[in-house]
Amino acid sequence: MSNKLEVIDLHVEIEGKEILKGVNLILNEGEIHAIMGPNGSGKSTLAYTIMGHPKYKVTKGDILLNGRSILGMSTDERARAGLFLGFQHPQAISGVTLSTLLRTALIVRDEQRRPPNIIKFSREIKALAQELNMNPELLQRYVNEGFSGGERKKNEVLQMLVLKPIFALLDEPDSGLDVDALRDVAKGINKLHAETNAGILLITHYQRILHYVPPQKVTILKNGVIVKTGGPELAEIIEQEGYEGLQA
Ligand code: ADP
Ligand code: MG
Repeated sequence: MSNKLEVIDLHVEIEGKEILKGVNLILNEGEIHAIMGPNGSGKSTLAYTIMGHPKYKVTKGDILLNGRSILGMSTDERARAGLFLGFQHPQAISGVTLSTLLRTALIVRDEQRRPPNIIKFSREIKALAQELNMNPELLQRYVNEGFSGGERKKNEVLQMLVLKPIFALLDEPDSGLDVDALRDVAKGINKLHAETNAGILLITHYQRILHYVPPQKVTILKNGVIVKTGGPELAEIIEQEGYEGLQA
């Protein structure tokens, strides 16, 4: 059976304010699904809620992974079940090197498995970093501390490539990137997709990244509701006409 993530009539509140007002969407294995929408439309809220961040309260609806509700699961449990969230604003973690973080993330996720061999693992992450045009020295630095915007975003992609999720939720992986970094980030996303057939929810403001990571589906979110769904042509229309004219 192929993997499936379903969001059903999802209503979400933050501090008593309704942000998502009945969102429905399906992400299938191997699918690249772009979520676009203006600032404040609820894109990050959707990603965080799927990942189980406690700040976001589901007041109605459900989220199913392969037919089973994940609403009762903690963020860790969801990660173990194969979900991954790449943050819009990755935070620094002082005192933990990137290399340690990556290894720990694998160990925590794969409770039952043997921890990866350090030497082999170091070689693998170094090779991945090089593929993303990341300076391998970053692996020995504290996570995101003093990293540039581009390095932080690449780091999210690196973590994703190490964890090999079933479904990756990528919150604006393209924001703040120059064109070279954008290509590297896109290369990493395409690598995961090609090698594992992961389903990818690609949240973005701009059509630009979609030239490098072509989606099969495009969904437009505005004021907490889906106002339009379609194929890649929808992204082109948005780029030309903006979000203004779109209403639910
Ligand atoms: P997007 O990612 O599409 O820009 P968000 O999901 O970040 O949108 O935000 C959606 C709405 O939720 C916005 O109106 C924002 O102000 C509100 N919001 C987000 N986080 C919080 C918070 N911690 N407290 C109160 N409101 C919030
Ligand atoms: Mg956002």
